[in-house]
Amino acid sequence: MAQPQLTEQHCPTCGTVSPIAFNVCPHCRTILLSHRRRKATPPWVIALLLVLILAAASYAVYLAHQILVLHRF
Ligand SMILES: [Zn+2]
Repeated sequence: MAQPQLTEQHCPTCGTVSPIAFNVCPHCRTILLSHRRRKATPPWVIALLLVLILAAASYAVYLAHQILVLHRF
């Protein structure tokens, strides 16, 4: 039977097989930055989301201000 590739990883330094959930090799303590979680959120996406949130927030404040001003009259 082939070893399941999704649950194990090989240490690039000593070759020890460890579960994919390990961040550090249990044998030589090499930091294992394998293919898992490779698709982390890029910084520009976070910046874009921040800009969109700020724009939406400022627009909401603008709308609330307009509604309050309209209700004054
Ligand atoms: Zn190792």
